[in-house]
Amino acid sequence: MENMYYPFVNTPLPYDYSAMEPYIDEKTMRLHHDRHLQSYIDGLNAALADCPSLQSLSLVQLIQASVRLAGTYHDKILNNAGGVFNHRLFFDGLANPADKPPQGELLKAIERSFGSYEGFCTEFKRAAMSVFGSGYAWLICGRSRLKITTSQNQDSPVRRGYRPLLCIDVWEHAYYLKHYNMRADYTDDWLSIINWDEAGRRFADCTQPCE
Ligand code: MN
Repeated sequence: MENMYYPFVNTPLPYDYSAMEPYIDEKTMRLHHDRHLQSYIDGLNAALADCPSLQSLSLVQLIQASVRLAGTYHDKILNNAGGVFNHRLFFDGLANPADKPPQGELLKAIERSFGSYEGFCTEFKRAAMSVFGSGYAWLICGRSRLKITTSQNQDSPVRRGYRPLLCIDVWEHAYYLKHYNMRADYTDDWLSIINWDEAGRRFADCTQPCE
């Protein structure tokens, strides 16, 4: 992930807006990256402009520091720093065609943790469906095995020190134009375009401390 420090810029997608067709449509990708993510970039820069003591912290450190901030700053920093980090992880985690399942050590860890790749898909879909309202489902590194977890709004497991491998954005803006209110269909489509190479690189870094 690039541009981890203030001032934040909306780094381009690592692929064309239409690259995830037909699973995620071009219009959704444009709105999602250029407007939704941009609004978190702008909100984070505005909050930090008023708070010079936080400007030297990395994106992950900002999310973790947010819990110690008072009232409005807690919300502004967590919502916007989380919004930037979570969206970047989501977009970086997509690849089309994703014609190969996870490989190597990551596949072994998935099989240890969920029984099989199919077991992972079933459990991950259940988690994505369980988020009430807006949020994310995540594949994260636990202490001894991989775990699936969820978060509300723009909270992020990095706030609690976990290292995420993948996430699905289940805010309605991520799928409403194409899938309407059918989150299950969107989740099935997302499972078809997981960038397992990226997840594998993140898994290999799991022994490193968070940035
Ligand atoms: Mn989103």
